[in-house]
Amino acid sequence: MQFLVRMDDITADMDWKRFTLIRDILDNYGIKALIGVVPECRDKNLSIDPVKENFWDIIKDLQKKGWVIAQHGTYHEYVTENSGLLGINPFSEFAGLSFDEQKKKIEYGKKRLEEHGIYTDIFMAPGHSYDENTLTALKELGFRAVTDGLYNKPYIYKDILCVPCRLNGSYDIKDFDTICIHSNTITDEQVEKLKFFLSKHCREAITFDVDSFADKAVSYSEDVKVFEAKALDLRMKKKGLGENPRIKWYLQLTDHKNKKIKLLKRVFFLPALFFYKSNN
Ligand SMILES: [Zn+2]
Repeated sequence: MQFLVRMDDITADMDWKRFTLIRDILDNYGIKALIGVVPECRDKNLSIDPVKENFWDIIKDLQKKGWVIAQHGTYHEYVTENSGLLGINPFSEFAGLSFDEQKKKIEYGKKRLEEHGIYTDIFMAPGHSYDENTLTALKELGFRAVTDGLYNKPYIYKDILCVPCRLNGSYDIKDFDTICIHSNTITDEQVEKLKFFLSKHCREAITFDVDSFADKAVSYSEDVKVFEAKALDLRMKKKGLGENPRIKWYLQLTDHKNKKIKLLKRVFFLPALFFYKSNN
C-alpha cells in the first residue's frame, strides 16, 4: 500500500491555524504533501482569516522543502452543474464549459501563479470535476498530471497522468490512494483520525512525483472505466447512508478508535437503529 497526502484550498486568507496544525503533523512524520493553491480565489467560502502578506513566500518555502504544488483551478468558482468525468460533485469550475473557455481560464490561472514564481505541471480541479476538454486544454498548456481518479493506480488518459484520489474521510487504503485534506473545515475528530493513521502508516507515505507515477501508470481502458464506475457507485451509496440521520446517529454512537471495539459496538448497538425515532 502507498499513499499521498494532498491539501486543498490553499489561499492567502485560509484558516491559518488549521493549516499550520496539519502542516506540523505532516512535518512531524516527514510527509511532503501536494498542496492545491488557488491562483486568484473568488470563492468566499475559502476566506476565513485576513490575507497573509507573505503568502507566496510561505508557499515557495514549502516547495523548497520538497512539498509539491498543484494549480487548484483558477478562481475556485463553481459556474456549471456538471460533475465531469468522475461524477463526484454536481458542480464545476470547468466541466461543461467549451474547450476555449476552459483553456483561457486555466491559462490565466497558470500565468497568475507564474507571476508569483510558482511553476507547476500538476492540476487539481475544484470539486474533483473536469471533463475531456479540461484534459486536452491542460495538455496544450503543458500540464502533465491531475490529482484525481477513482482507479486503484495511476493511469494515463488523453495524455494526462491521473493520480487517484478516492479517499473520502476514511483511511481504508488499498493499493494506492490519496488522502485529501481540507484544512479549513477539518474537525478535531478528523485530525485525531489522521494522526492515528499516520502513527501507524507514515512509512507508506510517498511524495507526488509525476515521472515515477507516469512510469508505473496504466493506460485508460474499459477495465479502468468499469472500475471507476463501480467506485463512484460505492462512494455515492456510502454518502447517501452517511447523510441519513438515523445512520449518522448510529455511526457516531458506535464510533471507536480501536477497530475491534468499534466492530463490537456496531454489532451490539445494531438493534438501537430501529429505536432511533422514538429515542431522538
Ligand atoms: Zn477546493
